Amino acid sequence: MSPRLRFAPSPTGYLHVGGARTALFNWLLARKVGGTLVLRIEDTDRQRSSDAHTEAILHGMRWLGLDWDEGPVFQGAGLDRHVEDVERMLSSGKAYRDFSTPQEGEADRAEEMEHGTRTRRARQRADALGRDEAGARAARGEPHAVRFRVPDGETVWEDMVHGETRFRNREIDDLVLLRSDGTPTYNLAVVSDDAHMGITHVIRGDDHLSNTPKQILIYEALGLSVPMFGHVPLILGPDGKRLSKRHGATAVGAYEEEGILPEAMVNFLALLGWSPGDDREVFELSELIEAFSMERVGKKSSVFDVTKLEWLNGQHLARRLTADLIPLVLDALERADPALASAARSRAPEWLSRLVDLLKVRARTLDDLADQARPFLAPVGEYDERAARKQFKRPGEVRERLSALVGVLAETDWSEPALEQALRSLAEARGEGAGKFIHPLRLALTGRGASPGIFEVLVLLGRDGALGRIEAAERHLGSLPEDDAPA
Ligand code: GLU
Repeated sequence: MSPRLRFAPSPTGYLHVGGARTALFNWLLARKVGGTLVLRIEDTDRQRSSDAHTEAILHGMRWLGLDWDEGPVFQGAGLDRHVEDVERMLSSGKAYRDFSTPQEGEADRAEEMEHGTRTRRARQRADALGRDEAGARAARGEPHAVRFRVPDGETVWEDMVHGETRFRNREIDDLVLLRSDGTPTYNLAVVSDDAHMGITHVIRGDDHLSNTPKQILIYEALGLSVPMFGHVPLILGPDGKRLSKRHGATAVGAYEEEGILPEAMVNFLALLGWSPGDDREVFELSELIEAFSMERVGKKSSVFDVTKLEWLNGQHLARRLTADLIPLVLDALERADPALASAARSRAPEWLSRLVDLLKVRARTLDDLADQARPFLAPVGEYDERAARKQFKRPGEVRERLSALVGVLAETDWSEPALEQALRSLAEARGEGAGKFIHPLRLALTGRGASPGIFEVLVLLGRDGALGRIEAAERHLGSLPEDDAPA
């Protein structure tokens, strides 16, 4: 039988980094082995679940390119089956009705805390009552929960990540299966659903490790075959504490909004816990499918490092076809400043492609790319202070150099080689280094200390645009008092 996997998010929040990583590992394994991935929305917590969260989770999955083969199935739709499964366990004696009052429940918990052992008072009360009497009270509509009767012994499984994992059953609570309001608990619903869907592999976060023995015991009580389990390690923040909002954005959607490419996010998520076993770091989705295996998922928690994400994003930006990037760049420009986006739309497509070609290898994110595009789409408003302190020092001298440069550039064919030749000959003729011209020129043209190659910038800006900007810089330099010039 071919493997069946599932991703089972609770729609009580957005798709967060940990959830997305779980989704990805399930997806990668399913795609690798030709299995089936089912998407199940665990919406049994009615109060905390919302359609908006479900939508956000589906959107996040689609954005990441993680498609599913079945579903979304909603857990809430399985309520009748959940109750039937509980009834089966009641009739076989694997579960019991618990009529304890809230005060008794409270006292039981306090006692267990004090002794540090499971006293199983609720079970003792149920046994004293007897099944017939419990059934009669239930039939009269007396409120009660249904608890699982944890058997003696030990629960052991071969975890796909952790290897042999064991829990002593006497440490496991007689967990509630059905609450007194008739709603199933997570552990019951998840087993009932996974079994019903024929799930063969359950891959999820380490935070579920302690649920797994409970679930295995329920499978066994229901006479169902137990799937394989794999628990992937926690994701930590840079301070070594469990990743949380304190560390910055944890919702995948926030990274989409910041101009991270989905393939970079997927690449980054894959490396949170998995490694290829060699020094490769940059992977396309198809390469990940090829390289992925559960054997190479480590036991150690991994650190969420945004710098690494941005680095990977830069790598993927550079790899992306420019034509594919243009709509994303327009979106990023729109986010930054709608005027920039409309300036970009009014340019010839070849010009815009050239701009994106030059910037995609220099940017870390789409928003960063949009920012670097600004000087090409809007006039230079002001000169970067740090760069100006260096390049516009001694304004008179710099101004004279720029003016000499305008003199030769104005006569030059507006192509990269010709412009380069003209600038270098001028510098040489004056016995000065080319840098003395190039750096102030960059600041004059872009207002910034960094940009693509200066001759590429000149061509992009065009003759009139470029000469106009140099002249504006000359005027600016002329207005700076020589003595008060930034030192
Ligand atoms: N709904 C659970 C969660 O989001 C799923 C747990 C599981 O995969 O079994 O944590």
